[in-house]
Amino acid sequence: MNGLAAQKDAQNSCLLDTSRLRKSSVLLIGAGGLGCGIAVSLAGAGVGEIVICDYDKVSAGNLNRQFLYKASDIGKSKAELAAKRIAEYAPDCRVTSISQKVYEDNAERIVDGYDMVMLASDNMPVRLAVNSACVRLGATLADAGISGCCGRVYIYIPKKTPCLACLESGQESRDKRTVGAAAGIISGFAAFSALKFLSDGFCDKAGKLILIDANNGIIDELAVKRLKNCNICGGVNNAG
Ligand SMILES: [Zn+2]
Repeated sequence: MNGLAAQKDAQNSCLLDTSRLRKSSVLLIGAGGLGCGIAVSLAGAGVGEIVICDYDKVSAGNLNRQFLYKASDIGKSKAELAAKRIAEYAPDCRVTSISQKVYEDNAERIVDGYDMVMLASDNMPVRLAVNSACVRLGATLADAGISGCCGRVYIYIPKKTPCLACLESGQESRDKRTVGAAAGIISGFAAFSALKFLSDGFCDKAGKLILIDANNGIIDELAVKRLKNCNICGGVNNAG
């Protein structure tokens, strides 16, 4: 197969099932640099329902990459604004907001009932609380993160892959200023992985840590092993 034929073959093999996407629901936790890109990509692809959860308010330092917000939005709720702008962008998408922080105590209530949960938060306690809730509820989780020009994407499938706690050191991500273009690459990769899962019911990148270095143009993947005695998925996820 020549290069052009291989490219056409690859294009055909990644067509998304729009009727399945229209029936799909996604909870997106985090409406920052990655969350803005993820929300637009999901809504643009035809996902039927998106709920955007974020407790933060827009600040001036967000505007280089959080393109759903304007300078006049500073001080306003990110979740409400993001939901409003996505509804304007994709009127067929049912989009609502939750302006709450996720804790261990409320995570299960917030996370329950969606086809997929997407995490785009740099807050470690939030990420671990969402991870625990997803494991307990058997919910599929896509996690995306960025620091500077580098980021990662990880898809957790209940009973099939290790959970987020199996690959996290428990340390917060470094507080480097995020480059907007890098956030675009990483959010696009995360959204596409989620769309494949929603469309096909599986994602070949699940259980692999995808590492993206925008500065050097490198995308790599690492197989993740379930931590021995992981106190989150150890007793539940026997296949990881
Ligand atoms: Zn685990």
